Amino acid sequence: MEYKLDIHTHTVSSGHAYSSLEENARAACARGLELIAMTDHTPAMPGGPHIFHFYNMRILPRMIAGVRVLKGAETNIIDYNGSVDLDEEVLEQMELVIASLHPPCIAFGTVGENTRTLVRAMDNPRIHIIGHPGDARYNFDVKEVVAASKATGTLLEINNSSLKPTSSRPGGDVFIRRIFEECLSVEAPIVIGSDAHFSDAVGNFPEAHRLLKELAYPEELILNTSTKRFLDHIGLEA
Ligand SMILES: [Zn+2]
Ligand SMILES: [Zn+2]
Repeated sequence: MEYKLDIHTHTVSSGHAYSSLEENARAACARGLELIAMTDHTPAMPGGPHIFHFYNMRILPRMIAGVRVLKGAETNIIDYNGSVDLDEEVLEQMELVIASLHPPCIAFGTVGENTRTLVRAMDNPRIHIIGHPGDARYNFDVKEVVAASKATGTLLEINNSSLKPTSSRPGGDVFIRRIFEECLSVEAPIVIGSDAHFSDAVGNFPEAHRLLKELAYPEELILNTSTKRFLDHIGLEA
C-alpha cells in the first residue's frame, strides 16, 4: 500500500511543534507524498496562533517543494454542540478543516455528551475530518458516531501519534481498533494522519498501517492511497 498524502501536520505556528511549513513540505516530498495539509492548532489551544495566521494563508503558494499544500486548521471543539473555535468566515477560507477534542479546550464529557458533540460537529459541512477520535477519555457511542461519519462523509482519522506507546492520549489502541472495526463493517472511507509535530513524522504511519493491515481494510476506502479520491471526497479540485 502506498500513501500519497498526510492530512494532519503542524508547524512552529502551533506553539509546541518544531518544523516550518517548508521543512514539512520537503520531508513530504522526500517520502514520496503528493499532498499535505497544514493543520495548525487554532486560537483556543494554549500557545496556538493568532487568528491572523489563518487569514493570511492566501499568500501561500499552492505547491511547496513539489508538494500540494492544503491550507487548513485543526480546530478545537469547544462545547457539547460541536462548535469549533474559528468563525464561519475563517472556516470558509480553509481548504481542510479537522475538528478535535483536546483537554485544554473541552472537559471530558459523558458518553452521551461526547457522542452528541461529535455527531453535531460532523453535521457541519465546513468540517471534513474528526481528528484522533480514539482518545478513550472522550468515550462515545461507536456505532452512532461511525454511522454519522458514513452518512455525512465527515471522515474519522486514524491518528498515527495516538497509536504510539508514547502517546499522550491513553487507552487509544483498544478504542481505536473498535472504532475502525465498526468503520470497516459499514464500509466507511477513512483517512490517516501523522499529527506530525516535527518534520520527520510527516507521512510516516507505521502504527496506523499495521492496524489497517490487521483489519484487512480495503485500500479504496483508505483515502491516503489516492490524492484524487481524497480531493474528490472533500470537494476540492485535483
Ligand atoms: Zn499539538
Ligand atoms: Zn489534536
